[in-house]
Amino acid sequence: MSFKSFDLDTGLLAGTDRAGYEVATPVQEKVIPRAMSGRDLIVTAQTGTGKTAAFVLPILHKLLNKECRSIRALIVTPTRELAAQVHRDINELKFRTNLRSTTVYGGVSPNMQVKALRRGVDILVACPGRLLDLMNRGHVTLKGLDIMVLDEADRMLDMGFMPDIKRIVSKVPAHRQTMLFSATFPREIEMLAKKILNNPVRISIGVSCPANTVSHSLFPVAQHLKSKLLLRILDNTDTNSVLVFTRTKRRAVRLADQIERRKYKVTSLHGDRSQAQRDAAIKGFRNGRYNIMVATDIAARGLDIEHISHVINFDIPDTTDDYIHRIGRTGRARKSGAAFTFTTSGDGKIVRKLESIIGEKIQRKTVKDFDYSIPKPRNSYSSPYNKRRISA
Ligand code: AMP
Repeated sequence: MSFKSFDLDTGLLAGTDRAGYEVATPVQEKVIPRAMSGRDLIVTAQTGTGKTAAFVLPILHKLLNKECRSIRALIVTPTRELAAQVHRDINELKFRTNLRSTTVYGGVSPNMQVKALRRGVDILVACPGRLLDLMNRGHVTLKGLDIMVLDEADRMLDMGFMPDIKRIVSKVPAHRQTMLFSATFPREIEMLAKKILNNPVRISIGVSCPANTVSHSLFPVAQHLKSKLLLRILDNTDTNSVLVFTRTKRRAVRLADQIERRKYKVTSLHGDRSQAQRDAAIKGFRNGRYNIMVATDIAARGLDIEHISHVINFDIPDTTDDYIHRIGRTGRARKSGAAFTFTTSGDGKIVRKLESIIGEKIQRKTVKDFDYSIPKPRNSYSSPYNKRRISA
């Protein structure tokens, strides 16, 4: 389906052209017409499906020619990285319009954000904490709000933002259009949806099932051989950009060091890095300065980098939802990607769960000529790396 069939303003079609979108993705086919009709929506769609443009285009269409420099559309995201990405997509798609969009999120000084707000914006992309802070200090008013989007609602729940979301919702006009996007629908999200949506249309795209442009493989290996195996795979595999997930910040740091010693261009993304360091890591990974990024789940949430060819789960994620989110970083918008997951003997339960959501047995692979029998060094200790998630 071409974007022309949506009756979108021609300026926005220029935006989709500029972004290189030729045909609408399935989520866009379903969401755009319904969102344009003004209905509330509850959408099950993972990242990588084109969901951002699915809500951005109808928002731009609705606000077009009515720029009033007061916030008419609010998009709430769980992480700064996702907020920045949504903002980037908005800027690309709106380049032929006079609409203004800005972002507010924590971890950086609010001064520039307040300045941008003072100049007047039509669309605000925000993380919950900083948004509430700026609302409380009178820098943000949402009295004129027409449209609200909650993006990646399940992750906002995971990150403990539910009370903030409820506070934000209590301060926006009851007469508004609301769209809620989530990759998964735990009970709390269903309850939130019931509270804040008005007779919503429910749209489901690939319900909690990983993108089918991704191939999955498991690499059974002893814990103490994981780093060696990873380096061997990096040496022997034809990759473009590789995103490696670890369970903890400490392990991300250690692994990035090991990879760097092998002369790879590697960076890392985790909760101990400052906002400036995170931005530089993402920018460098996006523009090819780094081919490899080692990340923890929370830091990499919502990351949209086009050319990731491989996601390597150095540590298997704790939940199938995390798996879906991780591998959503590759195989984006119809490109194909590979997800490699290292498993140890204790991972049987989560592997079975993964296979049940993928709907088939995941291929087990071994690396040729890799010595899986090297014993654990005598002075190695299992703690803290063998503990379950410490923090991300
Ligand atoms: P999202 O699910 O919004 O994170 O989008 C994932 C990626 O798909 C982003 O890089 C978008 O720029 C890209 N994308 C979105 N819509 C389309 C489309 N219709 N055709 C090709 N790529 C798209």
